[in-house]
Amino acid sequence: MKAQILRKTTNLIENKKPLVLEDIPRPIPNENEVLVKVSTCGVCHTELDEIEGRTPPPIFPMVLGHQVVGKVVEMGKNASKFNIGDRVGVAWIFSACGKCEFCQSGNENLCPDFKATGRDAFGGYAEYITVPEDFAYPIPDMFSDSEAAPLLCAGAIGYRSLRLTNMNDGHNLGLTGFGASAHLVLMMAKHKFPNSKIYVFARSEKEREFAKELGAKWAGDTQDQSPEKLNSIIDTTPVWKPIVEAMENLKPGGRLVINAIRKEELDKEYLLKLNYPAHLWLEKEIKSVANVARSDVSEFLKLAAEIPIKPEFQEYSLEEANQALIELKERKIRGAKVLKIN
Ligand SMILES: [Zn+2]
Ligand SMILES: [Zn+2]
Repeated sequence: MKAQILRKTTNLIENKKPLVLEDIPRPIPNENEVLVKVSTCGVCHTELDEIEGRTPPPIFPMVLGHQVVGKVVEMGKNASKFNIGDRVGVAWIFSACGKCEFCQSGNENLCPDFKATGRDAFGGYAEYITVPEDFAYPIPDMFSDSEAAPLLCAGAIGYRSLRLTNMNDGHNLGLTGFGASAHLVLMMAKHKFPNSKIYVFARSEKEREFAKELGAKWAGDTQDQSPEKLNSIIDTTPVWKPIVEAMENLKPGGRLVINAIRKEELDKEYLLKLNYPAHLWLEKEIKSVANVARSDVSEFLKLAAEIPIKPEFQEYSLEEANQALIELKERKIRGAKVLKIN
């Protein structure tokens, strides 16, 4: 089968072709796995973190990609949840141990044996993928394959971030950064918390306009003060400055949720501007969001169908994976990027 292969971590400013298209053996599903013929695979910022070594694959070569939609074409001998021909999705969580205290309490996203699709196991930048059947999800019929793919990561992690804010209807929510995940969070929050006001902090005027179109009460730049203080803020930026600025916009007892697998180092010194009385005093807190649990993916897919949320997307071929990644790196973004494979 054809697959885009990552052989080693690299710097995307110097190397614009980090992946190489190769023919590799089609995987064989083990007893509890299904073989999925990939239709589409979303392109995520986390792939840039993997390629540039901020969260590198532990083994090479690796096939990236963790927002996979396709059809079940073969089943392992103990797999029985799906039928041949069923459409399924595969998300960032590829597997977890099922036995540790985190798995037992529904926090399998924190499992020490957490395995990520497209980092710890071959992902969806390929014609086929195998996955444990318990970690595949039926896709609601209303979504096309390309619409469903971005929901599996940006949507599911956005859902978890919103859950971790602990907010209630009527609480004010801030979103700093307004990419794929944040715009889905805005749509979810409007639906779940109709009496809450949403404030968006984004660098580009276009993003701010888009936020207002989607129903944000206010949109400003990342260093702006919001017109009122906020109960919670979700950060989806790759850098540090918006973190410090966001803390000043929180109410006493407010919470900032950082939705980023890794932060870039380039403006880390901005953290030295952190001023205890302005930014942390009065029980303000910072929480990160790590990975996703299966419940985040399945609950979010249900919610997305109910609202409904249909993401904007831009399609590329498997051959164009490098181009899609470089455009993501250079922030040339018109909707979620999706590889159309079969
Ligand atoms: Zn992702
Ligand atoms: Zn576990």
